Amino acid sequence: MSSKPNRSASATRRPRRTLAFRLSAAYSLAGLMLVILATASLYIVLRTELDRSTELFLADKLHVLRTMLRERPDDEDALREEIELESAARRYQQFYIRLLDEQGVPIMTTPGMAEQLDLAQLASQTQGRFESSMAMTGRHGRPFRVTSETVAVGTPPTHSDTVQIAIDVSQEEALLVRYRLWFWGILLVTSVLFPLVGYRIARHGIRPVEEIAATARRITSTNLRERIESEGYPSELAALAGTFNEMLGRLEESFERVSRFSADIAHDLRTPVNNIRGEAEVALARPRTAGEYRDVLESSLEEAVRLSELIGDLLFLARAESPLTEVHREDVNIGELLTTVRDYYEASANDAGILLVLNDVAEPLNAELDRSLMLRAVSNLVSNSIAHTPPGGIVTLAASDEDAAMRIDVSDTGVGIPADALPRVFDRFFRVDPSRSKASGGTGLGLAIVQSILALHGGSAEITSQLGRGSRVTLRVPALRTR
Ligand code: ADP
Repeated sequence: MSSKPNRSASATRRPRRTLAFRLSAAYSLAGLMLVILATASLYIVLRTELDRSTELFLADKLHVLRTMLRERPDDEDALREEIELESAARRYQQFYIRLLDEQGVPIMTTPGMAEQLDLAQLASQTQGRFESSMAMTGRHGRPFRVTSETVAVGTPPTHSDTVQIAIDVSQEEALLVRYRLWFWGILLVTSVLFPLVGYRIARHGIRPVEEIAATARRITSTNLRERIESEGYPSELAALAGTFNEMLGRLEESFERVSRFSADIAHDLRTPVNNIRGEAEVALARPRTAGEYRDVLESSLEEAVRLSELIGDLLFLARAESPLTEVHREDVNIGELLTTVRDYYEASANDAGILLVLNDVAEPLNAELDRSLMLRAVSNLVSNSIAHTPPGGIVTLAASDEDAAMRIDVSDTGVGIPADALPRVFDRFFRVDPSRSKASGGTGLGLAIVQSILALHGGSAEITSQLGRGSRVTLRVPALRTR
């Protein structure tokens, strides 16, 4: 037996752990994708910008040399300044220029160019490729971008020379390498951090659900008073806890009603059984005359009848509450139905000195009802009214046609019901004055039966009453009428 709760606890814990795991995996994946997307796009932008500025520099240089060779081919100083001196003055981003004649013989070269670059390779690599620069590795492993162009000399051109330019891009490459290192570093840190943080967040989010489940596991029919403390929960889970607490409230109320009902049944069954037993014991204590035995039997029969009525009522209520119970509806003339009840009770009302009146029903008032059930409901009401109305009073039956319902009223000029008892009169076994009701044969189930009959028809029963002035019960059955 003891292994059972453990098994169920672990069975419910396993999917929860999976949920936290799944959530954190989803967070991490989304986070990592974002980091990769952001850093990779930044890297691409940076690389493109660096390449673009190198290309612009090379294009600029070529343009200057092209102009000089076309317009001032004999200004050797200016050419020397541009090719030999300017590069030497730069500390970063060194560049090298070589000017070759038509036969490929160098005319002018930036000092140190041959040290840095394999010039034969440069010539062969750049030959015939003028559209954009190319990558080339220098003698010391430094990265270069190189370009070459055949330039017309003089205006009009007399011949053409070749300009070769190489620019050292090691600074840019170093920057990109540093960036890539950062990228991998960030990726490493986030791929460790994201799952850890994500798992903590997921666990934190799921904790209230675990607490709700733990409370649910603790609850049995004996501690239905227990509630979930939802303070500090996020609003969605507080609402869940609230709904759960409300459900517990309803369960607690139903359990209380059921146990009160069982106690009432036991009490009401015990009284007649005790009476029968007591009378039998007294009768058997010594020899009796035939008349005395007859009295005892008659009294026992009376109790047995009460008992069987009570059991019949209880059975009726139990059946009425079953979801399988069907109502056998038929076309019922309400005027006739009330006349039947009036005729049945007329004699006993007369005996009690009460006037039983049936108000004229606007003909024809028909409805789709279960005739015998509705007869029973109205009879219960009339019998209550007669029982609680002193001689000289009036009990009135009336029916009318309301907008969406058929309405039956049973009113009396009887003793009435105290306001504090009024909300409970439809409860099972409830009697305003138990001793008095017992004398009149009431079981305290009459109005409960009326209510369940109306519920079976989808209708309602309401009571209004004034102490000392009388009561009125109104029954309403929704449409489903035939005219
Ligand atoms: P009972 O079988 O005792 O009549 P009911 O469920 O029919 O049980 O009624 C519950 C209680 O409501 C009765 O015990 C009675 O005190 C009160 N009651 C019902 N109908 C009337 C009425 N017409 N006038 C005064 N009291 C009433």
